[in-house]
Amino acid sequence: MLQQTQVATVIPYYNKWLRRFPDLAALARASESEVLHAWQGLGYYARARNLHSAAKTIASENNGKFPQLANELKSLPGVGRYTANAIATFAFDRSVPIVEANIARLLARIINYQQPIDSGRGREAIWQVASMLVPARSARAFNSALMDLGALVCRPRPKCQVCPVRRFCRASKPETLPRKKPRPRLKKLTESHLWIRNRGRILLQQSNGRWRGLWILPPLKTRSRAGPAIHLSIFPFTHHQITLQVFAQPPRKIDKQKQRWIDIDSIDSIPIPSPHHRAIADLLAARN
Ligand code: SF4
Repeated sequence: MLQQTQVATVIPYYNKWLRRFPDLAALARASESEVLHAWQGLGYYARARNLHSAAKTIASENNGKFPQLANELKSLPGVGRYTANAIATFAFDRSVPIVEANIARLLARIINYQQPIDSGRGREAIWQVASMLVPARSARAFNSALMDLGALVCRPRPKCQVCPVRRFCRASKPETLPRKKPRPRLKKLTESHLWIRNRGRILLQQSNGRWRGLWILPPLKTRSRAGPAIHLSIFPFTHHQITLQVFAQPPRKIDKQKQRWIDIDSIDSIPIPSPHHRAIADLLAARN
């Protein structure tokens, strides 16, 4: 949940998630729709799908026993080097390095690394330093300390005066580090969808694209005869800035394979991505 998302945002989702899926078996038993619904609002839904799929894999292939070694963890869906090592060290005190944004900044400064840390070479160089530093025992405490040092002291504006590792640090201009590659420019996209309402219901379609498994306003295939948009909003998605426009159309025959009439009263019980959820709330408020 914390990937690309701040702690304060995550806490209510995390508590709700644990109430809904109190253990691995409960998550493994849940339907994809329940999982996506519990994740709704956090975005990056691949994380929810991977978590669900990892729970099912552990339940079916590992008799429900949670793997403890980083290599075993890495074979689970959606678990890369960082996540595998973070679980291995924090949950099982294994001696493996971890590198997240705060630690990467801290280590780049300590060794005065002048190359971009988000290039393949830079990433490996920082992981290499973390591997050399991690102790054989008490790695959990060590890795927690590195994270805290990066988050609280070696911040983007470093507090070098109070830094406990100042003696070892080689950075002469720490505020210029870490270096990063220039960001790709945001690409602008426009996506058009339909607002089709039939008394107390609206038509939604299950996405098989970006929001696979979630329910969205049906996409508009051609804009001819669509009329003016009744809703416009902008949202970011990875390196894109997407304009969502919605057009009203009268009720019509639906594609029963993918589309469904949803009671307006039960909108909150199905998984809908936030931009579409906001558009629906906006349109319901404006049209009631
Ligand atoms: S001395 Fe300054 S730059 Fe070096 S690790 Fe400490 S806070 Fe970061």
